[in-house]
Amino acid sequence: MPISTRRAALGALGCLACAGLLPGLPSARASESTVPKTSMTPDQALARLLAGNARFVADNPMPAAIGSGRRQELAGGQGPFAAVVGCADSRTAPESLFGAGLGEVFTTRVAGNSMTAPTLASLAYSVQALGAPLVMVLGHERCGAVAAAVEFVTKGTRLPDPMMAMVDPIVPAVRAAQKLGGDLMEQSVRENARMVAKGLREHATFRALVPSKLRVVAARYDLDDGQVTVLEG
Ligand SMILES: [Zn+2]
Repeated sequence: MPISTRRAALGALGCLACAGLLPGLPSARASESTVPKTSMTPDQALARLLAGNARFVADNPMPAAIGSGRRQELAGGQGPFAAVVGCADSRTAPESLFGAGLGEVFTTRVAGNSMTAPTLASLAYSVQALGAPLVMVLGHERCGAVAAAVEFVTKGTRLPDPMMAMVDPIVPAVRAAQKLGGDLMEQSVRENARMVAKGLREHATFRALVPSKLRVVAARYDLDDGQVTVLEG
């Protein structure tokens, strides 16, 4: 995403927060929920995700609550313990990687796990109205959107419209990764997740909550062994 577009996306949410729309309207609706907010701390929420992933890696997935009982329990509301910003890649569904059931993980997915204005607004809702204490930005090995951004930066290759819209937000991460050395593709995946997480941590909407009430981590999913590794945060 060009910096100007990124700023516009981040700024859009700031205006909503300034106008009191996010703290007011969604909170009022959430208070009508019959499901309490999670009591987990940010660290406990992260430990739960990683424990679920460890079982996924070991081919012994955590039994996810997706039955009719759980469905009925959640019919009147939700109190997810984590929000995940993931890639739309069909191999990276957070609920599978973490053994999460209905109502546990608030997921926003777009190719390249980029930050867009609607994604940012969704995250603000999950944190402010629903009480999620953890946001994980989850990049993954050999991400196609990141690969397209690398091709664009190194060779000027453009995808046909409208697909460049998924590439543009990742370009700054590739340029930053070029300065790091090592494998450009892998470094870009990591830098992209780190930059999105950093942008969230520093955003006016979340800054005051970090770290006591909210943790924002960048992480990487390994397509080969299934492991999710926290990169920072
Ligand atoms: Zn991807």
